[in-house]
Amino acid sequence: MTATIIDGKTIAAELRGKITADVARVTQAHGHVPGIAVVLVGEDPASSVYVRTKAKAVAEAGMRAFDYKLPATTSEADLLALIAKLNADDNVNGILVQLPLPPQIDAHKIIFAIDAAKDVDGFHPINVGRLASGLPALVPCTPLGCLRLVKSVHSTLAGMEAVVVGRSNTVGKPVTQLLLKENATVTVTHSKTRDLPAVCRRADLLIVAIGKPELVRADWIKPGATVIDVGINRVTGDDGKPRIVGDVAFEEAVQVAGAITPVPGGVGPMTIACLLLNTLRAGCVQKGILGPKI
Ligand code: NDP
Repeated sequence: MTATIIDGKTIAAELRGKITADVARVTQAHGHVPGIAVVLVGEDPASSVYVRTKAKAVAEAGMRAFDYKLPATTSEADLLALIAKLNADDNVNGILVQLPLPPQIDAHKIIFAIDAAKDVDGFHPINVGRLASGLPALVPCTPLGCLRLVKSVHSTLAGMEAVVVGRSNTVGKPVTQLLLKENATVTVTHSKTRDLPAVCRRADLLIVAIGKPELVRADWIKPGATVIDVGINRVTGDDGKPRIVGDVAFEEAVQVAGAITPVPGGVGPMTIACLLLNTLRAGCVQKGILGPKI
């Protein structure tokens, strides 16, 4: 038997359709077009692609994108001055500073300087703390997307044995908080975890975010488990051509899992859709408008 493929592309397209309709509601009824500022410092090729994709998705949803492309030599003071300007701009509901930043800039300082109400990446310590305290918060986009994918195959996560592989601030930790909120029993693992395959085999729900191409093999997966693969790894295929693979060995895992996300076409498209949703929500809160019921 092979697993159900969790089609992130289709689920993200549906979500984006609902967001576009809600942006139209906000724009028509309240005369406000939600807007996001996307700040790119330097010319990292992967970051440039992400920023272009994000700007296109923002425009397609009927929102405003304010793009700032700054040279790699930008000083921390100049970037902080831009953040202060964007914090004060009523047309900007969300601020996203693409990471990584050049070495002369302290990323923590920049994240801290963003108004927490406009922190659509959900990285500001206020949002991190609110999420951990179970309070309403802007939550990082990739974990939000993962949860929506899980919910496309499970109506409830209560009591479910979940294992998260990876403990980054961007994925592993926030997804753990979301799973706890859903009443799953969560184990968080990392590079120092002993006998990782055995821990993974306990999971009814396995979420992997490590950045190691196809590390998770079929015999790490409990038969019938749901597997969410966050990894995006650029490798060279047997034919010598570049390709993208996840952190899970998909071809073999699909034979064991009950449901699994592909890479590409799983978590990736959901991240962008959730960025749009965060921007729309942030805009509604800032303007005192009833938020989207999405
Ligand atoms: P980080 O490098 O920030 O964190 C990686 C985590 O994985 C760390 O906690 C690390 O452990 C752990 N880890 C590394 N190697 C192993 C191992 N052999 N066994 C167990 N744990 C290990 O990565 P991110 O969380 O930012 O990203 C992870 C992956 O997800 C990457 O491929 C990235 O490209 C992708 N990604 C995809 C997104 C999407 O939209 N689809 C968005 C964000 C990321 P330790 O803490 O001990 O070092």
